[in-house]
Amino acid sequence: MNEHQPWKFTCKKCGGHELTVTHLWNIEAGTASERWREWGTLKDSHHWQYEFKEKIEEHADDEVQRGDFGEFEEDDSDSEPEDYEINESETERESDEFFVNCGNCDREIEFGWTEPDRRGLILPVEFSDFNPLASWPDPKYVDAWQQRGWLRTGNSQP
Ligand SMILES: [Zn+2]
Repeated sequence: MNEHQPWKFTCKKCGGHELTVTHLWNIEAGTASERWREWGTLKDSHHWQYEFKEKIEEHADDEVQRGDFGEFEEDDSDSEPEDYEINESETERESDEFFVNCGNCDREIEFGWTEPDRRGLILPVEFSDFNPLASWPDPKYVDAWQQRGWLRTGNSQP
């Protein structure tokens, strides 16, 4: 055993030292929406690089098909196309999601960012140098952080 290198992260469940950052986002392709993800290892320096990328295959739509052959129902609402929603590329980032997981057992790890609006570097809560007062929570964790009193005062709430 070499204890020379102090690890910033040690998983309390499996003892692993690696973290994986995953970024999920949508691509609007005509009427369909594709979901993609990319992921890579988070280094002790809080930097990461996406090393893998893939499209997520979702089969949820298959379930929606109606299988009733016996009845025939006239449905006026079907004749109107309702795909008028405009996707503004500037707000598209709001559908993005980020996750940090243990690279070994896949346990979800809470994290924040060095800058608001999910910018800057990633600060996992379980890193040994984590300081909530120097972090902005990822939106998923705002409520949890608030309960712990981790939110900064003077944090401008829109
Ligand atoms: Zn683990």
